[in-house]
Amino acid sequence: MLQITDLHAEIDGKPILKGLSLSINAGEVHAIMGPNGAGKSTLGYTLSGRPGYEVTGGSATFDGRDLLALLPHERAAAGLFLGFQYPVEIPGVSNLQFLRTALNAQRRLRGEAELSGGEFLKIARAQANTLGVDMEMLKRPVNVGFSGGEKKRNEMVQMGIIDPRLAILDETDSGLDIDALRTVGHGINTIMRRPDKAVLLITHYQRLLDYVKPDYVHVLAAGRIVRSGGPELALELEREGYVGVAA
Ligand code: ADP
Ligand code: MG
Repeated sequence: MLQITDLHAEIDGKPILKGLSLSINAGEVHAIMGPNGAGKSTLGYTLSGRPGYEVTGGSATFDGRDLLALLPHERAAAGLFLGFQYPVEIPGVSNLQFLRTALNAQRRLRGEAELSGGEFLKIARAQANTLGVDMEMLKRPVNVGFSGGEKKRNEMVQMGIIDPRLAILDETDSGLDIDALRTVGHGINTIMRRPDKAVLLITHYQRLLDYVKPDYVHVLAAGRIVRSGGPELALELEREGYVGVAA
């Protein structure tokens, strides 16, 4: 599904990703761990096409298409979803308006019919239900005044409604208490654990991986994948830290 080969990217002329290669197949959950400043968030932003993140070498294909040649909204329409480490607040725009606009824009680009208000509400209600989120929360402005945990729950509802094929989730577990962590884990499993979908979980800690079992764990250090393994690698890192793997 996603094939990254020798990817190099820089911000303001400063090289951050330095030859990163990673291959993700449909049906798989991959976790990326690594020390602060390693380039984890940069990888997510570069794949999603955020301005300012300049690719200087290598390639990334998504279902065989040149991902890096697509505009950000085309990448989203192709099925890529990026969850933010720090979700943004959008005053004046309700969650429901925002998500209906986003979903219909993606459907238009894919040549699918737009959803009516009623059709959209049905999907939103079903997703809110699945994730135990109150519909009232979806009527409020996007993330405004939400606690850290509420923002992450909200992000899961967004993901459920957008229904992407590949979700890149950046530190989705940061700032969550145990209940919120369970909700988020349940959300990821319910929405994304399917044979035709895949997940790239960027995380500092092993604890989210207790809820969302990864098939592969990678260590990103100094802009490259320096080690890959199974779930046991996350436990080893938790025990021993990045010293040794991140040299
Ligand atoms: P991680 O998510 O692994 O902690 P990041 O991808 O956020 O790491 O950052 C990687 C490196 O890029 C860090 O050295 C950071 O200081 C630098 N960096 C990130 N964003 C910017 C920016 N907007 N301008 C300049 N340097 C940046
Ligand atoms: Mg980060």
